[in-house]
Amino acid sequence: MAVILDIRDLRKSYSDGFEALKGVDLQIEQGEILALLGPNGAGKTTLISTVCGITQATSGQVSVGGHDIVTAFRAARAMIGLVPQEINLEPFEKVINTVQFSRGLFGKPRDDAAIERILRQLSLWDKKDNQIRALSGGMKRRVLIAKALSHEPRLLFLDEPTAGVDVELRKDMWEIVQGLKADGVTIVLTTHYIEEAEAIADRVGVIAKGELLLVEEKASLMARMGQKQLDVQLSE
Ligand code: ATP
Repeated sequence: MAVILDIRDLRKSYSDGFEALKGVDLQIEQGEILALLGPNGAGKTTLISTVCGITQATSGQVSVGGHDIVTAFRAARAMIGLVPQEINLEPFEKVINTVQFSRGLFGKPRDDAAIERILRQLSLWDKKDNQIRALSGGMKRRVLIAKALSHEPRLLFLDEPTAGVDVELRKDMWEIVQGLKADGVTIVLTTHYIEEAEAIADRVGVIAKGELLLVEEKASLMARMGQKQLDVQLSE
């Protein structure tokens, strides 16, 4: 399998000197779902932000589909979709315009068929002319995903997509993620929930205090879940 995301010795110190990432190495293969599991403040969002070029890394290399995130930023970024933790949507905008506008920001030509495909995939087609503010929380999260997919990226980051949502919505989200994988999208999602990693991931990475402690096939990690050391790390 080809590696779509290659992260080497990634470090990030914020301006106050705080080391949020302490040398992360991670390779993601095309087509897989990787869940990054970690407690509050572990560095999950920082990792995503540096890979997406929102935050500048202090040192290290990141390449996406062979494109270096610094020297070939536009090519690398075009391959990435990002679903942020917060619902950052314009409430008075229509669903379809939100997704079309996002595609335009990536310099992609208008493609009504592509937008329709994305909205249908997320069961948003019949809501395409609704204003965002009229949608439920679950539907807003779907729009966030549609927006992230608007330029047809090959790699999708979902930053805690089910934080604070009820069980029903969480399961909805898991189905959406599995559907995207079936379409060939590679997925990295962050979560606090072990059961979420268990339900949908192929591999699980555990991050704490800026260090990627392990990355394993889900089955072998779950077999170790009884280990005290891992419990302590996750509950810190
Ligand atoms: P959560 O699960 O709460 O979202 P996280 O794993 O995503 O946490 P990050 O948001 O990446 O963690 O934060 C990692 C650490 O970096 C935290 O200790 C946080 O306080 C710190 N941090 C994040 N942003 C900044 C900043 N701009 N300046 C200084 N420290 C920061």
